[in-house]
Amino acid sequence: MTGAAPFGGHPVSAETLAFLAREHPLLIGGREVAGSGTMATFDPATGLELSRFAIGGADEVDAAVAAARRAFAGPWRSLTMQARANMLYRLARIMADNATLLTELDVLDNGMPRFIAGLTTANCIEMIEYYAGAVLRIEGTTTAPPHHVAQETEALTYTLREPVGPVGQIVPWNVPLSTAILKLAPALAAGCTVVMKPSEETPLSVLALGRMIGEAGFPDGVFNIVNGLGAEAGQALAEHPGIAKISFTGSTATGRRIVQAALGNLKKVGLELGGKSPVVVMPDADLSLAVPGVAMATFFLQGQNCMAGTRIFAHAAIHDRLVEGLAAFAEGMTMGHGLDPATMQGPLISAGHAAKVMGHIERAVADGATLVTGGRRAEGAGHFVQPTIFTGCRADMALMREEVFGPVMAIQAFETDDLDEIAALANDTPYGLSGSVWTRDLSVAHRLVARIRAGHVSVNCHGAVGTNIPFGGFGQSGWGREFGQEGLDGYLETKAVTVRL
Ligand code: NAD
Repeated sequence: MTGAAPFGGHPVSAETLAFLAREHPLLIGGREVAGSGTMATFDPATGLELSRFAIGGADEVDAAVAAARRAFAGPWRSLTMQARANMLYRLARIMADNATLLTELDVLDNGMPRFIAGLTTANCIEMIEYYAGAVLRIEGTTTAPPHHVAQETEALTYTLREPVGPVGQIVPWNVPLSTAILKLAPALAAGCTVVMKPSEETPLSVLALGRMIGEAGFPDGVFNIVNGLGAEAGQALAEHPGIAKISFTGSTATGRRIVQAALGNLKKVGLELGGKSPVVVMPDADLSLAVPGVAMATFFLQGQNCMAGTRIFAHAAIHDRLVEGLAAFAEGMTMGHGLDPATMQGPLISAGHAAKVMGHIERAVADGATLVTGGRRAEGAGHFVQPTIFTGCRADMALMREEVFGPVMAIQAFETDDLDEIAALANDTPYGLSGSVWTRDLSVAHRLVARIRAGHVSVNCHGAVGTNIPFGGFGQSGWGREFGQEGLDGYLETKAVTVRL
């Protein structure tokens, strides 16, 4: 599957080799800063070190917040909206020129298959362009002036939409560039300045992005990067009194810590957290669509996907045929290095995470679930776990309740045709991020969608996210929405103004 050769023996571009070989300091106020130590980042498909990068703690976060505050008060605020939009368009062009580098860095750092990294890089460029276009559509309203003013004199009341201020952004490792851009693009479009803390597992593509932001001409301090440990740099950023908003994507457990840390100055908080999303397959579902669609709902990104559909509710009438199709699909997924064009399933992010996923698999077996396929960790230095399917799952099993964040599917059969009962199965979770319904009957589809408690529900497809489509969680899957207009709104404050004329 993979050798110990660098990059699994696959070629990478000269730009990527040069980038890996250079130093990776912090980016604070437009300057490269050494930080308080270094860490290594590894290729999860081979276990080999890719590069070392500087890390910081509370002092470096302090310096980065000061730089973001200076930029917010000065050069960034004084740019016209058109100039701000043009800078974003320039950044999109620079990213397009460097798409191979950005794509290869995410493949190497995260392990995802190249075709997925290529798509996410393209989506990131589209996202920057979308929010560049949105800058000139940031608009207030006019409304009736208050009675006590208007009865004395002519008056005018209008609203302004202003940036919330310098923001902190903390991102995870599962889609490194993408989770960074979908925070950064709306923040910059709104006129905020940013201190970003990438995941310590996958720092590389955001570091490359930092250089491109400099090249695009953004004023110093508009975008700052402080790599480091979550409990140090991340915690310091979430607590910092100089930050007006903290936007976090990661686990629900860390999300709770972010809320606690934000209490000091009551900074605004945006949270994109975990999920345990339901997939409901009705008896009339088109299985030629449902088999690959449901399989990829779970196995996309090795299951390291917040919106992964991992609780499959299959009507008894199609359960056996669905399971047979899913097992064949899973067994046909080629595991390997993300740079290998044949790879559909890459490694998990780390040895520790693979061990955690194996723990979930062992627990499911002990709890009485039936292992249909997979369930094993591949030999070798890479962190590969086979696509795994369990049937006979019940709501009380840990596998149906806890986010695995790995390629593990739990299937539960149901017999009822009552949509309230089916929705009750789907909604039996503290999460509410995503979900999907598979049926040919549009009336059933819409009635079931209306009953499912999740921020993003698809019919006959799963996780159909897009730049313009709001995304976020009900329940313990988060606070607020990213993408689209709502993603921009999260970085804007409304100021109401009344003028006696
Ligand atoms: P994580 O919570 O362990 O880490 C996320 C980020 O938070 C990292 O940068 C980490 O360094 C930092 N961090 C850790 N402890 C911190 C602390 N005490 N204070 C501040 N920052 C801290 O999550 P992860 O393992 O990197 O990512 C996987 C999780 O992310 C999954 O639960 C997944 O569902 C979730 N996720 C959600 C979405 C979404 O849009 N809802 C998207 C991707 C991932």
